[in-house]
Amino acid sequence: MTDKDALNSQSRQKEKTNKLSLMHLTGITDDHIHYLTPTLGIHQEMLDAWLMMQKSAKEAGITLCIASGYRNAERQLQIWNAKFSGSSPIKNNRGETLDINRLTDKEKILAILHFSALPCASRHHWGTDIDVYAKNHLPEGNSLQLEPWEYSATGYFYELSKWLEKHSKEYGFYFPYDIYRNGIAAEPWHLSYAPLSSKFQQDLKLSALREAIEKLNIKGKKTILSLLPTIYSQFITNVNPENILKE
Ligand SMILES: [Zn+2]
Repeated sequence: MTDKDALNSQSRQKEKTNKLSLMHLTGITDDHIHYLTPTLGIHQEMLDAWLMMQKSAKEAGITLCIASGYRNAERQLQIWNAKFSGSSPIKNNRGETLDINRLTDKEKILAILHFSALPCASRHHWGTDIDVYAKNHLPEGNSLQLEPWEYSATGYFYELSKWLEKHSKEYGFYFPYDIYRNGIAAEPWHLSYAPLSSKFQQDLKLSALREAIEKLNIKGKKTILSLLPTIYSQFITNVNPENILKE
């Protein structure tokens, strides 16, 4: 191999890594994912931290489980298109279903984003973010709702909330949607593994997201693209800023 060939091969390799990482960030590929079950995956480099936290929770009497981990862009796209077209309900922050015939495309998009991520921009694509609950505290006959009341002082996951608030950071986890910041609703079940996700959050640039959205068969595309800078600052980067772990 000549020096020039070696250089070319090096730059091709670099290009490939770069592409791969954008594909990871936007939910196109899953080769960074370790599957715990056929339908539940998390980032492979988060596995040890997760298992350690789960074990520690167990010792405190909490059967910590993941309701939702890795989700690809295709799945998020199905959720999005179903809401945009009206086949799934769009709710407001009081839990009331909105009449989509009375909304402009812009209003629809902002209402969907309150509870559902834009495809290619969900933190669940990264494999570092998980929705958790305490299986042994869910009363028999009840199904998991992933609603704030379940995690509140009067809900059956209050003990879990208290435990996570105190201990999750010992394993590198934090709550990106700890409070409502005029973007995504508070999600007391959504944990993020900061050693990886803080970097991923910085890596997902507006220009890369635009490129990814342009390739999608997404409903409302034209309006989404025109609103993208607002969506990016209001719903994607607008999260709990305490995501960098202290050494
Ligand atoms: Zn979540």
